[in-house]
Amino acid sequence: MTPTATILLLGSGELGKEFVISCQRLGCRVIACDAYADAPAMQVADAAEVFDMLDGAKLRAVVEKHRPDHIVPEIEAIRTEMLVELEREGWQVVPTAKATRLTMNRDAIRDLAAGELGLVTSPYRYAESFEELRQAAGAVGYPLVVKPVMSSSGKGQSTVRGEDELEAAWRYACAGMRGDRQRVIAEGFVDFDYEITLLTVRAADGVHFCAPIGHRQEGGDYRESWQPAAMAEAALDKAQAMAARVVDALGGHGLFGVEFFVKGEEVIFSELSPRPHDTGMVTLVSQNLSEFDLHARAILGLPIPPLNARPSASAVLLAEAHEEDFAIEGLAEAMAAPPGSHVDVRLFGKPVTRPGRRMGVALASAPGAGTERAREIAVAAASKLRIRTGD
Ligand code: AMP
Repeated sequence: MTPTATILLLGSGELGKEFVISCQRLGCRVIACDAYADAPAMQVADAAEVFDMLDGAKLRAVVEKHRPDHIVPEIEAIRTEMLVELEREGWQVVPTAKATRLTMNRDAIRDLAAGELGLVTSPYRYAESFEELRQAAGAVGYPLVVKPVMSSSGKGQSTVRGEDELEAAWRYACAGMRGDRQRVIAEGFVDFDYEITLLTVRAADGVHFCAPIGHRQEGGDYRESWQPAAMAEAALDKAQAMAARVVDALGGHGLFGVEFFVKGEEVIFSELSPRPHDTGMVTLVSQNLSEFDLHARAILGLPIPPLNARPSASAVLLAEAHEEDFAIEGLAEAMAAPPGSHVDVRLFGKPVTRPGRRMGVALASAPGAGTERAREIAVAAASKLRIRTGD
């Protein structure tokens, strides 16, 4: 059979793995790429390529070898200038090369959202030296959050309560930077009531929204998410309007994870991913079509049906140490679902553990009982999973 489409997936983590499965269900052929062999998405893909995706020449060679219909970035650490060049030559980058280039850098997406589109964000300044950071802090005021402009999963990010903590934050940010730009964003700390991810699908038949996903972060990385998050209608309207504006500005087809802080009816844009979002793993049990199914449908030009969510939650399993010889135990206990609920587990199949590395996720839905109960069940299920080491 001729595949529906050939897809080159750049980044092969747990989100990529689910995306590969969604694409294959629709008859696609997927080539999964990453810097290491046997990455989660490679375990289910049709073919794999192991190379450094920050190397533009290698990226081009892999594209020319496989001649994909769609190039789908799953991570940020990709030579995005090469994606821009490839797109100009007629290759199709999802959602667009511009979206991958702008969202790779916190300053670029902030300039678009706050500067060009006028969305509400926290006050912010950029700094390229400690002296500039001091001036930035003076303008923004304390408390503030310092983040490298190129980083993810909370790396190099810290909250600064006063001037005496500023130098440590600068050093921490410099140590956590990715790429070659020594630049940080200093933004006002938002004392939010809660934060949400609004999964937004830009498809051939228009812009669609999933129910808002609430989440809890620790150290800049997500621990729990739940859907639907309770939210005042006026706040949801504002978030949807902002999300539509930003995805329309980025263009293309695909699913975006748009993040907001919410305080009362005030909605503050934080950042976005032009691809499925880790907090959106909850959609594997909450929706008939997961965020991965929706990304695949949008990319392939297929229709998006009305999106509803049953009360559900996810809770992550994190590793504590570096191990190559390990097993994950406790699946049966984790899956012992209380009456009226449904529990599932995804183990990502990462070959090595590292401190703080996400190894799996527990998923729970509790249709009759509500989102709070689903959270309790997901957290209890995740707590039953254990990483047993060889010694
Ligand atoms: P980010 O990598 O920018 O998504 O930040 C990770 C997490 O840190 C967010 O989901 C928030 O929980 C927290 N955070 C980031 N920026 C701020 C801020 N300006 N005010 C309060 N919390 C923040």
